[in-house]
Amino acid sequence: MTALEIGGEALPQERKLVTEIPGPKSREIEERRKSAVAPGVGSSLPAYVVAAGGGILKDVDGNQIIDLGAGIAVTTAGNSNPRVVKAATEQLQSFTHTCFMVNPYEGYVEVAEALNRLTPGDHEKRSILLNSGAEAVENAVKIARVHTGRDAVVVFDHAYHGRTNLTMSMTAKATPYKAGFGPFAGEVYRAPMSYPYRDNDAAGTKVSGEEAAKRVITMIEKQIGAESVAAIVIEPIQGEGGFIVPAEGFLPALVEFAKEKGIVFVADEVQAGFARTGKMFASEWEDIVPDIITTAKGIAGGLPLSAVTGRAEIMDSVGPGRLGGTYGGNPVACAAALGAIASYEEDGLVENAAHIGEVVTDRLTKLQSKHPEVGDIRGRGAMIAAEFVQHDSIDPNPDLVKKIADYCAKNGVLVLTTGTFGNILRFLPPLTISDELLGDAFDVIEEAVAASVA
Ligand SMILES: *Cc1c(COP(=O)(O)O)cnc(C)c1O
Repeated sequence: MTALEIGGEALPQERKLVTEIPGPKSREIEERRKSAVAPGVGSSLPAYVVAAGGGILKDVDGNQIIDLGAGIAVTTAGNSNPRVVKAATEQLQSFTHTCFMVNPYEGYVEVAEALNRLTPGDHEKRSILLNSGAEAVENAVKIARVHTGRDAVVVFDHAYHGRTNLTMSMTAKATPYKAGFGPFAGEVYRAPMSYPYRDNDAAGTKVSGEEAAKRVITMIEKQIGAESVAAIVIEPIQGEGGFIVPAEGFLPALVEFAKEKGIVFVADEVQAGFARTGKMFASEWEDIVPDIITTAKGIAGGLPLSAVTGRAEIMDSVGPGRLGGTYGGNPVACAAALGAIASYEEDGLVENAAHIGEVVTDRLTKLQSKHPEVGDIRGRGAMIAAEFVQHDSIDPNPDLVKKIADYCAKNGVLVLTTGTFGNILRFLPPLTISDELLGDAFDVIEEAVAASVA
């Protein structure tokens, strides 16, 4: 099976507009939704999905939308990936749940073995399985605190780590994630991020990775005290923050500092992990070896699963019975994860992510040469973003991004917006998307930008 064949058979791989988007059937369900579903949970594109695969989402009205979001980097191995479907179906038919804390099963152990093998570093590792990204980050902090006997957690500007109380406190953006939801967890400290596009020193020159790391280290030493810090938690490429890739040397310098001071370095790869960036994990781009790595999103082809994987001596410091959860490492999710991981390793998906990155970057670069509003293009592999600015300055331009996303949605292309200022388009296609679909999507995006800058 090649990457492009995954899911391509069941659904014709073409964009198709049968009605306006959202169509009449979607609008009818949307009306029911308004009286049934709490409004706190939103949807980027309210076209109700009935099938998905390859690079296509098919809605109830028969429209076929090109998927440049992959359910926020979750169906990275393709929607209904055949390996995932087969493994999960077989597991569903044998048993659906025992609770690993009551009666264990081999699938959980196999997923832990795969994570220990695939994550950066050849040291001895252990893993624990949970349900969501937020739960993984919470557990990483719990483990780091027990291991170090310290309380403080250092996070960064523009960070996103989840919506539970602790991870919401670790997340940077107030609206929609935090405003009104306090009080927040204590002992969470925010450090300045390396953000190459906007990060200039007083003389107007770019702040290097080493200098940006020094800023963080000074902040930690002067405002917290390194001996009080349990963990530094960072996304090697920030997801919701806008695919910010820190300047080269920033991450290695922080890893080095953490090692010197006995601080646990946690890479939150919930969004960037699992083949997404053209390597199995984004940490590999700078050859860093995190003490702990948190994963979720792309791990199980769409089923809810997350993990904390870390150095054996750190993970072993928490005694039996102190970690877990009723559903953590559910057997169906574990089977799905083994299917997804096999697909990443055997269907050329890592290479495909790199190829998608080249195509997307090339199209965005052409767009930038016509429109100065495309301020910055960044990211790695199939995790690329364009930051939109004003015509004559680098001030954020969220209105333009909203117009572009709306135009794309109406024309059958799903694009996601993000960033602290909402001025970023991020592209996270499934790694099973064809070049033809990607090309068609960017033709629409090009039209959308041209129509929206006016
Ligand atoms: C999505 C995300 C989370 C939270 O994951 P959930 O499964 O939504 O709880 C945490 N960290 C990062 C980097 C994420 O992108």
